Amino acid sequence: MHPRRILERYGIAPKQSLGQNFLYDEGLLARIVAEAGLSPDDTVLEIGPGLGALTRQLALVAGRVVAVELDDRLLPVLRYELEPFANIEIVHGDILAFDPAAWFDGPFVVVANVPYYITGAILRHLLDGRPRPRRLVLTVQREVADRLVARPPDMSLPAVSVQYYGSARVVTSVKAGAFWPRPEVDSAVIRVDVEERFWEEGREEREKGGKGEEAFFRVVRAGFGEKRKQLKNNLRRLGLSDEAIAAALEAAGIDGRRRAETVSVEEWEKLVSSLGS
Ligand code: SAM
Repeated sequence: MHPRRILERYGIAPKQSLGQNFLYDEGLLARIVAEAGLSPDDTVLEIGPGLGALTRQLALVAGRVVAVELDDRLLPVLRYELEPFANIEIVHGDILAFDPAAWFDGPFVVVANVPYYITGAILRHLLDGRPRPRRLVLTVQREVADRLVARPPDMSLPAVSVQYYGSARVVTSVKAGAFWPRPEVDSAVIRVDVEERFWEEGREEREKGGKGEEAFFRVVRAGFGEKRKQLKNNLRRLGLSDEAIAAALEAAGIDGRRRAETVSVEEWEKLVSSLGS
């Protein structure tokens, strides 16, 4: 059913402030679910189930779906529309306050048509959390999708932050007309496959023999410190001597005159290890 008709039936107006643009293209919903590659062994976290269109499709293939919705007006809709599915749990709350450890024993899959105003915060919250998702299939603003899957020389802190954990790619483009109400921007579905070493707590730290991601992001954040500045200058924020920075850059095979946007995740990893962080 068209989202407008469902909302009319319940006397609810969509809230732009909560990023409420509902997907109603069945083909696209099927594509998103297929991309998640789910089986009955999988647990899915859906962010912002809205009227439940995607939730229903997920519940048909996954073993368990936990759907976190902030807008209390939508809870009666979700409870009624999804009542036949015993494997869906609807949670009322803010995804940014959601603690995966309280709900999941191990890696889970995230599938969502995300509220665009908090895309970056959602990614940080889930990738920083424990347990971690093993895969994310997210509908996001097209511009954000392109930014997250960018390669050198167009890297950014968000791109490194996602690509550090795994591979990211755009699965398909989504025209604004696939949603109701129609958003002002086009969208895209991205898929992030998180590397297995990040699924298990502490494993990446053991494998890297260091402080792992904490050290990595300290260096990357310093490197991106000031736009258009050369790497060797931005890295001074680490509080090391110019000589130590120059030696680490050289050991990693990185020219210190380069800008952070040109550095690949693999090069950042080499730099972090030669800094001995
Ligand atoms: N999944 C539905 C679909 O595809 O049609 C709705 C997607 S809509 C773009 C985003 C949904 O996220 C809305 O239902 C909105 O109420 C919900 N939402 C917004 N902020 C949220 C938050 N902080 N935590 C959880 N859900 C949120």
